[in-house]
Amino acid sequence: MKALVKTAVGPGNMEIRQVPEPKVGFRDVMIKVEGAGICGSDVLIWQDRMPLYVPPLILGHNVSGVVTEVGSEVRGLPLGTRVIIDLNVGACGRCPACRSKREYLCLSRTIIGFTIDGGMAEYMSVPQPWVVPIPDNVDMYHAAAVDVCNAIHTVVDRSPIGYGTSTVILGPGFQGLTILQVAKLLGASPIVMVGRERHKERLALAKELGADYAVASDLEDLPKLVSELTGGQGVESVIETTGVEAGLGQAVEIVKKGGCITLLGSLPTGTSLDMHKVVYDEISLLGVRGYNRENIEFFLSAMKSGKIDVSSFVGTFPLENWQEAFEARVNRKVIQPVLVP
Ligand SMILES: [Zn+2]
Ligand SMILES: [Zn+2]
Repeated sequence: MKALVKTAVGPGNMEIRQVPEPKVGFRDVMIKVEGAGICGSDVLIWQDRMPLYVPPLILGHNVSGVVTEVGSEVRGLPLGTRVIIDLNVGACGRCPACRSKREYLCLSRTIIGFTIDGGMAEYMSVPQPWVVPIPDNVDMYHAAAVDVCNAIHTVVDRSPIGYGTSTVILGPGFQGLTILQVAKLLGASPIVMVGRERHKERLALAKELGADYAVASDLEDLPKLVSELTGGQGVESVIETTGVEAGLGQAVEIVKKGGCITLLGSLPTGTSLDMHKVVYDEISLLGVRGYNRENIEFFLSAMKSGKIDVSSFVGTFPLENWQEAFEARVNRKVIQPVLVP
């Protein structure tokens, strides 16, 4: 079968290869891949700016597809079932992390598309517990945006956001725009989306998706706006998705005393910030590493009811045109490119 393989450590080193079809063990499910979404971390693997991966490796952790074969012990997944994959494959279900619904921190968890082969291929074999059926009315290419679950986890489990919570989202990328939709669902208000002048189309999209304000921070005075909106207090919740030190600095500047900064952006080692302010203003810093099964349930029910809508994010590319798709993500032409094998 065809697969997109990172062949070795280093920048580039990625190509379509003919590889053997995966084996189906007695507890496994064979999936014919319909869509494989490209994540920012896939781009980092392509560029060799993410140390976690183990080549040779088939990329892809955002996968939708159809069940074409099951092992002898698999029950309740008829052939033809439309599914997505929970990337926490191998989580033990018994350790403290798993029992506290943080299976993404389980020591026995592998990571699809990082440490074991992912879904940018024609077929993929996955143990049944991590194969999740999807509702009939959810589009397969939209379902391949499984990383929306990161946004759900960020807002629901790792932020104080609820009804009426003042919220600033830094970075109008895929994560920021999906976080916006989830924060809106939970009643956050006001919501300020922050980008740069070069993001003006995405800032306009943020307004369409329900942001109360969409600000280019290199043109407009964000701290002043936040101060006006909050009576000089600062915002209760800042979500940092940019992964750059300047974004974190901005977060510390605009969060209120006792407020919370949630970190989803992939900040590099050595990133520094004003820790004095963090200590004396009692600012909470919460990292985000992944998502859990409940977040997937939330994703599917919100997609089914149209409360989360990724149709303006998704653009499809044939698997062979992977380079064009990766470049489209880097150049901000397509928010969520999906490869179609
Ligand atoms: Zn991802
Ligand atoms: Zn565990």
